[in-house]
Amino acid sequence: MIYLDNAATTPVRPEALQAAWPWLTSEFGNPSSTHELGHRASGALSNARATVATWLDCRPSEVVFTSGGTEGDNIAILGLALANPRGRHIVSAHTEHEAVLASIDALVRLHNFEVSWLPVSSSGEVTLADVNAALRPGTTLVTLMLANNEIGTIHPIAAIAELAHAVGALMHTDVVQAAGWLDVRVTTLGVDALTLSGHKLGAPKGSGAVYLRGRLAVEPLLHGGGQEFDRRSGTENVAWAVALATAISLLDDPAQEGPRVAQLRDIFITSVQSAIDRAQLTGPQLTRHPAIASFTFAGLNGETLLLELEERNVIVSSGSACAAGKTDPSHVLLAVGIDPEVAQTSVRFSFSHETTAEELTRAVAALTEAVASVTALAG
Ligand code: PLP
Repeated sequence: MIYLDNAATTPVRPEALQAAWPWLTSEFGNPSSTHELGHRASGALSNARATVATWLDCRPSEVVFTSGGTEGDNIAILGLALANPRGRHIVSAHTEHEAVLASIDALVRLHNFEVSWLPVSSSGEVTLADVNAALRPGTTLVTLMLANNEIGTIHPIAAIAELAHAVGALMHTDVVQAAGWLDVRVTTLGVDALTLSGHKLGAPKGSGAVYLRGRLAVEPLLHGGGQEFDRRSGTENVAWAVALATAISLLDDPAQEGPRVAQLRDIFITSVQSAIDRAQLTGPQLTRHPAIASFTFAGLNGETLLLELEERNVIVSSGSACAAGKTDPSHVLLAVGIDPEVAQTSVRFSFSHETTAEELTRAVAALTEAVASVTALAG
């Protein structure tokens, strides 16, 4: 099997599972307990937190473990906006993940917030001039992802954060897809909040963390015993925190790994474009996520194309697999102006750190055959 759906989820690294195992079995203590078993659990949690903090270049007390990217986005957006409402104004873009869009929607529906949606180019980019024009003296929060999960567009987060801060707004970024591929240190990005998900980087589904800067006020979404610095109550999932930290510690340096895989991606894109006339790359040609390449194949049936690829052992997805079983055209493709019928034909290829040039050559051959077969069916 050639698994090219790593943006949907990655396999769990055996080392992460091994590191988690004791905390699910013999070391079952509650980190809040005052006996030895509890102390060992809280020690493991602290070590995991320190690993994540070192990687993000922040303080351990700024890392809150979560159940994944969706929760992190909700905590950052709702938690920060409700605790620091200012003029109840959010700036974002329609190309964000549903977890961000739905969190903003909750602020609008339930808490009287207003949103300025940034214009996006046909490759999903926003301009600094448009960000600046959208900002107001009372803007509460700007939330934009570092790298798009469907079309791979990269936003200049550090520059956007500077603009946001100039009017006193907070800046959140979702780096769920960027982690492991781009520099996600909070000192580089200059953000106040950042969301991570474990299952995109070799940790189990249901693991994750959110960075919340310093002593920023955050309205918790989960109320209870005050765990995680009063920012996320509930007995901590020690095993998944340990697994997340272990998977993170195994990541290669993105400064080397990003360009290495980007080279494979570029060969893949060129090969697909030269083999298949109707293949249209979505997202930008140049500055893009190193491991994501997605295309539309106008005139073909996207679902049949995925099945044909699967028959040839190439596993991919159409748009985003995170939108549970949806067959609607992707909101990201619609936001960048792609016709709904064409958007239905999109196929996303997303690589892992282990993806090889040889696998990609085989994937291009399988795609060429699959397109020929679906074209014959259509004709
Ligand atoms: N944000 C982005 C950019 C994603 O791609 C995803 C999942 O695909 C999420 C958030 C949600 O993360 P999780 O599945 O851990 O809730």
